[in-house]
Amino acid sequence: MKIDILTTFPHFFDSILQTSILGRAVTSGLLDVRCVDIREFSASKHKNTDDYPFGGGAGMLMMAQPASDAIKAVRNNVPAGESCKVIYMSPKGKLFTQEMARMLSREDHLIFLCGHYEGIDQRVIDRYVDLEVSIGDYILTGGELPAIVMTDCIARLIPGVLGSAESAEDESFSGEGLLEYPQYTRPRVFEDTPVPDVLLSGNHAQIQRWRYRQSLLITEKNRPDLLTDEHRRMLERIHSEETEEQNDRQGVP
Ligand code: SAM
Repeated sequence: MKIDILTTFPHFFDSILQTSILGRAVTSGLLDVRCVDIREFSASKHKNTDDYPFGGGAGMLMMAQPASDAIKAVRNNVPAGESCKVIYMSPKGKLFTQEMARMLSREDHLIFLCGHYEGIDQRVIDRYVDLEVSIGDYILTGGELPAIVMTDCIARLIPGVLGSAESAEDESFSGEGLLEYPQYTRPRVFEDTPVPDVLLSGNHAQIQRWRYRQSLLITEKNRPDLLTDEHRRMLERIHSEETEEQNDRQGVP
């Protein structure tokens, strides 16, 4: 997959694109990321990329000309037949999710446009952007962090990027869309707290049952919005079993 990141801060990405799984994806050639400096496309004498907003208001706005020329230049280099989407990073966009990452990982080429200041002239969005994407309900200084969040998440879904030890299948938001169960490693006892017995039992079926139950419980606690009706029915059963067990322990008839 090819990703072009259009930004006024191209060096922002230097170290992160050489680090960990992203670094490996780039070095192996499975991911080709280029950072394009929007400033180089500015037609103004001083290579300006921003100006005052019409109608007044605080702050500056990215001008249409440099960003749209950068998009056109990059898009003109996309070979015929390759699928390509231009994505503008924006708090006003659709919320980025694992499902959206899965969908975008099937594209041949993505172009991420990073905003700055108060954002960008709306005409760039209307004329050249396929999708506006937000990484969450909060305001960042620029689109660079959202672009790298999306690049990292999508790269993990490109076949071959993750080693066999790092599966994208068995994680939060995958499969049934639940959060992942808690995990433990050595030592068996840490600060008087042992790992749950079931994980040392060697009984694979019991471990799977325990993990599924834990996934349901953590999702109920932290992200109830992810639960389906079927999950809620299973949780009702889990809670009534827990009450029965507690009553048995306390000798309640
Ligand atoms: N005035 C804009 C608003 O209220 O929606 C916010 C502008 S923000 C300070 C500057 C740039 O950062 C945006 O144009 C966008 O590219 C990026 N940005 C900030 N927060 C973001 C978020 N949650 N998701 C995606 N991009 C974001």
